[in-house]
Amino acid sequence: MESREDVRGQVLDFVFDGKFERYHADLAKLLEDPIFNYQAGLNQSQAGHLTYERSRFVHARIESPLEVLSQPYRLFALAEWPALMDVAAFSVLMVHYNLTLGSFFDHGLDRPGLAPHIKNLNELQHFGPFMATELGYGNNVAALRTTAEYDPATRTFRINTPDVLAQKYMSYSGFSDIQKTAVVMARLKYAGKDHGVYPFAVPLCNEDGMRPGIIASPCPEKPVQGLDNGLTWFDNVQIPAGNALLGQGEYVGEDGQLHLKSNNSRTRFLSSMSRIVPGRLCVASAGLGSARASVYLALKYAGRRLTNFPAQGDAPIIAYRSHHGPLFRALANGVGMTALLNRVKREYVTDTSHVPTKLSALISVVKCAATWEATSIINTCRERCGAQGIFSVNRIADYVSLLQGLVTAEGDNAVLMSTAISQLLGDSSPEAPAKLKAVGHISAGDVPVLLDLIQEHKKVALRNKLRQDEDADFTSLWNSAIEDAIDLGTSMAKSLGSREMVEACTRVRDAQTRQGLEALIKLFGLVEIERSAVFCIANGLLQAADLNAIQRQILECYDLLLTSYEGIIDGFGISEELLRAPLAASNYAVSFTRACGQPEYLYN
Ligand SMILES: Cc1cc2nc3c(=O)[nH]c(=O)nc-3n(C[C@H](O)[C@H](O)[C@H](O)COP(=O)(O)OP(=O)(O)OC[C@H]3O[C@@H](n4cnc5c(N)ncnc54)[C@H](O)[C@@H]3O)c2cc1C
Repeated sequence: MESREDVRGQVLDFVFDGKFERYHADLAKLLEDPIFNYQAGLNQSQAGHLTYERSRFVHARIESPLEVLSQPYRLFALAEWPALMDVAAFSVLMVHYNLTLGSFFDHGLDRPGLAPHIKNLNELQHFGPFMATELGYGNNVAALRTTAEYDPATRTFRINTPDVLAQKYMSYSGFSDIQKTAVVMARLKYAGKDHGVYPFAVPLCNEDGMRPGIIASPCPEKPVQGLDNGLTWFDNVQIPAGNALLGQGEYVGEDGQLHLKSNNSRTRFLSSMSRIVPGRLCVASAGLGSARASVYLALKYAGRRLTNFPAQGDAPIIAYRSHHGPLFRALANGVGMTALLNRVKREYVTDTSHVPTKLSALISVVKCAATWEATSIINTCRERCGAQGIFSVNRIADYVSLLQGLVTAEGDNAVLMSTAISQLLGDSSPEAPAKLKAVGHISAGDVPVLLDLIQEHKKVALRNKLRQDEDADFTSLWNSAIEDAIDLGTSMAKSLGSREMVEACTRVRDAQTRQGLEALIKLFGLVEIERSAVFCIANGLLQAADLNAIQRQILECYDLLLTSYEGIIDGFGISEELLRAPLAASNYAVSFTRACGQPEYLYN
């Protein structure tokens, strides 16, 4: 019999791919500091400033940002943990570490002129906003219109906003009392010619506030993430020529000559936006971290909140099928998507300097599938907690708002998923995939095989649809297939996630824990087959009667999980003490009463 600690360690390894102690444990511990206590009654500006303070706190206690950037697993862990206690901290930290300093890391470490900016950002003397999106250029950001025109007389670039649609939008320029150096994406213009989009280092605010020529205002209020997302206009802002973060071997010479490599505009843009690829892994990490925390909170509460059961008296609400069913589905999807993310992170870290197109597209699929799934998980958990689910102090409601940002930022899911699938579609095998085996009694090991076949059939169907009418113009052809492409992306993610779960499960030694995890894998697979049932029946892969067998097996999984779920969430690396959410406390009634400020004598 293994000890509870041993078993917990095995589940931690399963969830965190064996990397919890090395990359996550100290970050989780940091969150116990009182600076992360919930603070009531803050206005938008106070909440935003507190987030910057908390970000400074984290920065001061871990290795430097440049060291974090050199260990991608550490960056991903940083994306995951502070967001659990302050969802806006995800945005501040990840924009600063990954997008902004990361742009210097990728394009400017060896340029002496940039050293003071890198020092300021690395030491967090300055925060670093990343300014790509413009009011009229979001998903179409490649067409952005801010210009950086070279002025040979002064050997500077002049940054300009040509019109209202080209104002930088959503980046963090709303507070001018925090010193900042931004990375601004702009079109490099030299001798009247547009050379494409490059990153430029632009000091935004110093101790005297916003620099002359930069006109910025905070965007209107939005719920929860009280940060300083802003609208920014550049009016002839001069920066030294060396502030252009050009590619390897690209520079403005002493003689004022511009030396660029001839890249097509798409390659140039992707190279300038290189940090978006690890950024998407960070986004997925934050979304799934919050999703797992929501499941943890909702299941803890479900085990303690009593309600009357027909003819039985009081029992915990988890006993109801209508309660544990959705929560166990959420648990299975949260763990399954985490396994998928682990797999793709491993592929990414093998060579961060060269990310093949196919891997980049797969990372996009993972970002979308993970954040969509996390949105659904968090909303389910919110609802299953009743009124307790709507209070910020109980965390889950704040995670709802985090996910609203994550599905849109760093590539809106609908656009990103469909584009990524169009890049991955060519890989499907030309032959028709095999039929599905019978689904009457499936095992955990069958799940990846079944899900793989379903996604292969969907690929073939999508390719056929795109070929159907060769006379049709591409827009109408693509429009007829775009929703299928998004659906295929989800199936692809589920298939890969299930394979990774099965592999990770073989490393779990404790037989009882493995049995619980196998039930979770089976549930993950059955739920995906159920989701794809219309496609499967329409394409002759399943009979309508098979759905009864699927339903029966889903209920069997629920029963198995009722006896094993606690061991699984025990391995999420979180605790009631860390999250400090009254609803998950052992005595939630007292904790909530205290959080409301009722006098102690009532409950002590
Ligand atoms: C919380 C938050 C923080 C952010 N922080 C930053 C930041 O620090 N720096 C920065 O530069 N940007 C930032 N952004 C901006 C973010 O990158 C953009 O919001 C994102 O790129 C989407 O652009 P958009 O909002 O203009 O949406 P739009 O492009 O206007 O899209 C609106 C809708 O239209 C649909 N749509 C658009 N194009 C297509 C298409 N081709 N095919 C099908 N459907 C389409 C989309 O699916 C979406 O539903 C942030 C955004 C958020 C929400």
